[in-house]
Amino acid sequence: MSGTTALACHGYFEELSRVSTSNPASMASRRSPSQTAGVESGVRGWGENIFSRMDTAGTPSLFTKKGLQAAMMDWAMRDEHFKTQLFRFVDVLPSLTSAGEVSRHLKEYLGDEQVNLSAGLRTALKAATGASWLFGAGVKAQVTAMARQFMLGDDSKEIVATLRRLHDEDIAFTVDVLGETVVSETEADNYAARYLDLLSLLAGETSKWPQPCKSNVSSRGTIPQLNLSVKISALYSQIHPADPETAIEKTSSRLRPILRKAKELGAFINFDMESYALKDLTLHLFKTIFSEPEFASEPACGLAMQAYLKDSEADLKGVISWARLQRHHVTVRLVKGAYWDYETVIAQQKEWPIPVFGLKAETDANFEKLSVILLENADAVEAAFGTHNVRSIAHVLAQADRLGVNHRDFEFQMLYGMAEPIKSALLQLGCRLREYCPVGELLPGMAYLVRRLLENTSNEGFLANTFAKGASREQLLRDPNAMVAEQEPRHRTSPATNPMFRNEPPIDFTISAEREKILAAIRELRQQIGRKHPLVINNKYISTRDWLPSTNPANQNEIVGYAAQASIAEAEAALAAARAAQPDWARTPAGERSAILEKVASLMRRDKAALCALEILESGKNWTEADADVAEAIDFCNFYAAEMRKLGKPQRTQQVPGESNLQHWLPRGIGVIIAPWNFPLAILTGMSAAAIAAGNAVLIKPSDQTPVIASRLMDLFIEAGLPAGVANFVTGPGSTVGAHLVAHPKVDFVAFTGSKEVGLKIWETAGRTPPGQVGLKKMICEMGGKNSAIVDSDADLDEAVSGCIASAFGYQGHKCSELSRLIVLADNYDKFMERFIAAAASMRIGPAEMPGNVIGPVISREAQQRILKTIAIGRTEAKLAWQGQIPENPNACYVPPTIFTDVPPASRLFREEIFGPILSVTKAKDFDEALALANDSEFALTGGCYSRSPVNIERAKAELVCGNLYINRGITGAIVERQPFGGFKMSGGGTKAGGREYLQNFLLPRVITENCLRRGFAAAEE
Ligand SMILES: Cc1cc2nc3c(=O)[nH]c(=O)nc-3n(C[C@H](O)[C@H](O)[C@H](O)COP(=O)(O)OP(=O)(O)OC[C@H]3O[C@@H](n4cnc5c(N)ncnc54)[C@H](O)[C@@H]3O)c2cc1C
Repeated sequence: MSGTTALACHGYFEELSRVSTSNPASMASRRSPSQTAGVESGVRGWGENIFSRMDTAGTPSLFTKKGLQAAMMDWAMRDEHFKTQLFRFVDVLPSLTSAGEVSRHLKEYLGDEQVNLSAGLRTALKAATGASWLFGAGVKAQVTAMARQFMLGDDSKEIVATLRRLHDEDIAFTVDVLGETVVSETEADNYAARYLDLLSLLAGETSKWPQPCKSNVSSRGTIPQLNLSVKISALYSQIHPADPETAIEKTSSRLRPILRKAKELGAFINFDMESYALKDLTLHLFKTIFSEPEFASEPACGLAMQAYLKDSEADLKGVISWARLQRHHVTVRLVKGAYWDYETVIAQQKEWPIPVFGLKAETDANFEKLSVILLENADAVEAAFGTHNVRSIAHVLAQADRLGVNHRDFEFQMLYGMAEPIKSALLQLGCRLREYCPVGELLPGMAYLVRRLLENTSNEGFLANTFAKGASREQLLRDPNAMVAEQEPRHRTSPATNPMFRNEPPIDFTISAEREKILAAIRELRQQIGRKHPLVINNKYISTRDWLPSTNPANQNEIVGYAAQASIAEAEAALAAARAAQPDWARTPAGERSAILEKVASLMRRDKAALCALEILESGKNWTEADADVAEAIDFCNFYAAEMRKLGKPQRTQQVPGESNLQHWLPRGIGVIIAPWNFPLAILTGMSAAAIAAGNAVLIKPSDQTPVIASRLMDLFIEAGLPAGVANFVTGPGSTVGAHLVAHPKVDFVAFTGSKEVGLKIWETAGRTPPGQVGLKKMICEMGGKNSAIVDSDADLDEAVSGCIASAFGYQGHKCSELSRLIVLADNYDKFMERFIAAAASMRIGPAEMPGNVIGPVISREAQQRILKTIAIGRTEAKLAWQGQIPENPNACYVPPTIFTDVPPASRLFREEIFGPILSVTKAKDFDEALALANDSEFALTGGCYSRSPVNIERAKAELVCGNLYINRGITGAIVERQPFGGFKMSGGGTKAGGREYLQNFLLPRVITENCLRRGFAAAEE
């Protein structure tokens, strides 16, 4: 085995590149069995070689530390619950400002009865720090020391001293800046400035080094010593999946000065690869910015690519082709990927295909496959292998031997503070080695530390298996392809909790074809808007004398359509149609009724882009909100259909011999559905679909603001085959037609969602029993909220800031679940508010049809005037802390998003529902006061709490009075079946839309008891 085969390989590569351009990967797969066996024996040889050198180098520091750290890490690897509690404690620790707080959290996390601390560990913990560990003292120092192992800190002198030491040890570096999640443009500016400062600092240091270290010299020449790793997410705070163009523009404008400086200093710029959502954007940005004439040949550049991604082979080939075409020699840092759990969880939550491989061995095998592609295409790309896995490293070396690639023509990269013995072995073997060195403060660095701790203690990870669990070398060097063949594939799909129902996934707007569909649908809609939308009675379209225009709130001159205005006579005709149709519909088997609703769902899916376009233009929802509304409407149809299939079968109440007791459900009869404009398709569909699935006939009375969307729903009911008269569509004035129907003796139930004012009136009217009414009118009523979220003193501010911004201002605050009162603990107040206001000021405001706009217009001129009036009142009651800039457009209904602070609990601002982009912030001295403030309301709809104190989280769960409570996440966006939605007190009658019991509101229970005993014998089956 030749360690450093210096090949005169130019001609070889030229030939190879011709082959590899057509299909580089296929070469690896076309290897003959003897070649594979040869590579495997090479891998084993290199592996043994590395292991024997590691033996003399000792054990990585993390695994050899004495005392508390050692005991904790050891226990973390034995006990998953302890590991979770420990790492959560590590995560919160830097935000704790007093020894008392540290002690409280330590007890809350590790004093938990479920934490199975062995007597041995307790003794070790005490021995390590004395009894004081239980009181918090010393613990912060221990964790800081642990963090220091993986990070260079923030002190310039320390940073350069460490890099000089590495240089002296012949180890090259790349420096990464640790930081909080960038939530505002101010923070993105600061980050960019930090990169520039760092370049200056490092250039000052490296210029003093007389010659490059060996790891910066390849057989092709010298590599820049100054190497900076950049995170794209740090350069723009408003990256929106639907608007990559703006993200590219904004990140590019912050990147250019960095690239110019790097060019001037002869530095190397690497793009790290982050979450999957940013992957295409990062690739695109890389290719576009390094194609600009100014940067087409300098600075030297590279990017990380993640082998755990199923797309990675195609992406790598794309980068190679681009590099070859551009003649830009780039470095690809091949890594496995740092966000495996996150990607898996997020994809499962969104019902998206999981982008990462499910088996660790699959990732390892893919890493090997991509390693070969990189080695085979060395003419176009420089290879850097970022791994601590001896098998992966040995495979690279063996494949390089097979392909005749000089071992100094690629480099290995490892993380600072990890796997020291492996680094030592590689240096002994004459390989080039670069360390990835994070710099920055401890607080923002905690997420990085937790990732490293997880990596070091992961059951499947190479390091823990090697250094802590003592796996055999044979096992550690096994061919991952063989392991894949032995194992069952995992995570092919996300797990289903309900075999009868799956949520409609949100559109993944990172996919350009999906974005194109919405743009095309908006263009198409504009060709046909302005039409008249008649009533529908008995599946017949009925025109009226009066027509009410429905306009685009971003441009009141654009008429989206005209809604027919029913008179009382037409309302009566619709009622008669419903009454005539209902008995047959009630007799239709539940399965058949459900099938029609499932058809409606599939038609909505077919028309998704068109429906989204309509929502964007008629209701001013941005792309994401529009998609969520359509997806929820689809869910309602499918979910209620599935539930009705269950309720359609009689259910046995008890099993007793000789008697049958069965509960049946009967439809209530005729219902009036009165829906709001804020979820113009979802709520209307939800209430109608539940009623229809249950066997009722309905009169649908949508809001005046969004009749065109509603009329599309009616069209889909007809197209899906709903029999005439089962659903009738009556647009018209609520004060006459709506009021007439609600009070009507022939109406059996009313389903209403809307304001408290109207809801209470309807509730009262429905409670009366006029002559001719034969039963009690059922009222299904959902009203508004005055929702609060608490930000605790130890909250994760990255999450709290972005979650609260989305909850307060998403869809212009036009959500009954919107965050209206933010209660921030005094300890956290200043820090939180500074970031929060900067984040608010970074939101983009403008027409909803522009995909990157977070805030659009409010629904109507009337709403605009009402909200502006509330702002004027607010100015007299509280302090105006911030107000956004809105586009100057007299034809649009914008309201500036507004934040008030020092809001007194007795003020109107604090108590009344606003339904607009206004947030009241109040400071609480402690958690007790925060809970009391949050509960001081006549409403009880949604609530939230951001905290990392297990005790306070439990208190929030027990004490916050609301129908939907969200912990450590935004408080809007309930998903059908997952988060049945609805509140109580003045927020509604306690019904839960999208929940299992919801259908029962539209049904009457009936129990039938039959004596099955005849002359002393019972039928066997009874
Ligand atoms: C210098 C350097 C730079 C890095 N830069 C980046 C970067 O820009 N972006 C980034 O995402 N990561 C980056 N990483 C982190 C890197 O992804 C992890 O350190 C690396 O995945 C650990 O792999 P390993 O080969 O050392 O260890 P191994 O223990 O062999 O592999 C662990 C990896 O296997 C994968 N894995 C674990 N479980 C499963 C499973 N069940 N199914 C499928 N795959 C699984 C995960 O990727 C996990 O990280 C970098 C690492 C280094 C060394």
